[in-house]
Amino acid sequence: MAYHSALCDILVDEAQLEQFALVAKDSAFRHGLLMRTKEDPNSPEVLSYAPFTLFPSPIPKSIYEQAKLLQRDFNLLVEKITQDSKFLEQALASIIKVDHFIARLFEIYRKTLQKGISSPITIGLIRSDYMFLCGEEGVTSLKQIEFNTISVGGGGLASQVPAVHRSIIMFLVEDIQMNIYDQRLIENELWSRNIPVIRRRFEDISKRGHLDEEKRLFIDGQEVGLVYYRYGYLPQQYIEKDWEALLMMEQSRAVKCPNIGAHLAGIKKVQQELARPGVLEHFFPGDPEAVSRIRSVFAGLYSLDLGNEGDQALDMAFADPDQFVLKPQREGGGNNIYGDDICHVLSKVEQSLERTAFILMEKIRPQPVRNCILRRGTLLKIQPCINELGMFGVYVRHGTEMTLNEFAGHLLRTKNSEHNDGGLMAGVAALDSPYLV
Ligand code: ADP
Ligand code: MG
Ligand code: MG
Repeated sequence: MAYHSALCDILVDEAQLEQFALVAKDSAFRHGLLMRTKEDPNSPEVLSYAPFTLFPSPIPKSIYEQAKLLQRDFNLLVEKITQDSKFLEQALASIIKVDHFIARLFEIYRKTLQKGISSPITIGLIRSDYMFLCGEEGVTSLKQIEFNTISVGGGGLASQVPAVHRSIIMFLVEDIQMNIYDQRLIENELWSRNIPVIRRRFEDISKRGHLDEEKRLFIDGQEVGLVYYRYGYLPQQYIEKDWEALLMMEQSRAVKCPNIGAHLAGIKKVQQELARPGVLEHFFPGDPEAVSRIRSVFAGLYSLDLGNEGDQALDMAFADPDQFVLKPQREGGGNNIYGDDICHVLSKVEQSLERTAFILMEKIRPQPVRNCILRRGTLLKIQPCINELGMFGVYVRHGTEMTLNEFAGHLLRTKNSEHNDGGLMAGVAALDSPYLV
């Protein structure tokens, strides 16, 4: 195997692993590596451990550094997209016809532009996710899975994983309420810097929120300076009134993280459009290095729009579905389609506009690494695992000036190599931390 050996192989004794798991659980508890349960997502009395790996996973240092360097490019790219209404309109034109949810988001974007954007400041918190391929002679290459622009999670909990790994081994490393501890860690950090945080739902905003004549946003008598969306990225998270609340927040002077343009920039259809020849050049005129840095991590991405190009992609998928992932325009894991199901789904929508609601992506097949996963505190046996490295990026634009554009840490998620899909919240992936090799 042209890959670095896994730590769990150093400790083959099962009794020893159980011992380590006990210590790791105590440490996970102390460090707040927790989640509420699916059964009682709103109860602070019923808690369990967030899924995490017993050992950190080996990640090639060169790959990590490349992904880190790229983050500023991706921050800039997302920010440029948010300001390019012509591009967004064109990129999303086909999706809007078939996807009611995205059409409504786009309508909010359009209305916000029409009225003139009220806040000169915009904040982006994005996460770009990668897997890595091991080629001939152990050369690894980084491939992007997707980038996320709204409700980017995991950063809170991920910050605690190294502490748990360190105390294991000396020499090394809604319902949204279920993931509340990820958010609480961020809230605590803000409070510790004397920044007051309030938590509100769409319903609270539509019932009790309003804008004053200067478009300042108020709720329960308090002015809101910044709206941080940890919700609202799926159609089932909206009832009719919530769309009015969203429009009100977007049209307010409050800074949005993300603003509606950045939310739209994170849609998978946009990722596919960016892979077309000439599109990155449009966003980075005069910076061919940035273009090639970004393009080097793109896997094959294909449009299924009606027409020749889409027909060709369709033929490729039917001919060898195992080489591809079929992706709808949804977030949160567990929505993608694999293998023979790709043929089933595509044969149903082949002749209609419906097929444009998907994109087709080359399937990335990373080299598995062995690790142990603890799920709800129960130690599972050593298994072949696949890593997905998420890189956080943060930017602030004030007027036309990018006043901040930084790499902001990582999230390493690890899952059994047999699982095709699924994130932390979908109960498949576990939190992990990298040890750079
Ligand atoms: P979501 O926005 O729902 O997280 P993703 O595009 O990240 O959607 O897909 C969910 C999961 O599916 C990923 O975490 C990864 O495990 C798997 N996946 C997605 N695209 C690919 C791909 N091209 N090759 C291999 N696995 C993939
Ligand atoms: Mg996503
Ligand atoms: Mg994802």
